[in-house]
Amino acid sequence: MENCIFCKIINKEASADFVYEDERIVVIKDIHPQAPVHLLIIPKKHIVSIAHLKDEDKELIAEMIIVAKKVAEEKKLKGYKLIFNVGREGGQIVDHIHLHLLAGKF
Ligand code: 5GP
Ligand code: ZN
Repeated sequence: MENCIFCKIINKEASADFVYEDERIVVIKDIHPQAPVHLLIIPKKHIVSIAHLKDEDKELIAEMIIVAKKVAEEKKLKGYKLIFNVGREGGQIVDHIHLHLLAGKF
């Protein structure tokens, strides 16, 4: 998608601090962390938000959560929050679906 910052990061046209990458998902550090650990789990497929999900995306969303769990284990996090912001009124700024992983002091 043109002008989508997360698509640019996924395509390596913009830089980011990568923590994980596989065929379908990337995990990067948030540029403005809201907690000591603030990661973004992002599918390579450009889906705008939770509100735009289709039945066919079920597996991808499940994979995002499994990747969040794996990264949390690798980082030996004892607890964390997983958050989807949905739409402007839900606090979503970047219109490419992503799961926030936050850990540490809030
Ligand atoms: P949203 O409010 O859409 O749920 O969250 C978007 C998040 O993406 C914000 O926490 C913001 O700091 C982060 N973000 C926005 N642009 C960039 C960027 O270019 N690089 C990285 N690493 N994070 C970004
Ligand atoms: Zn995108």
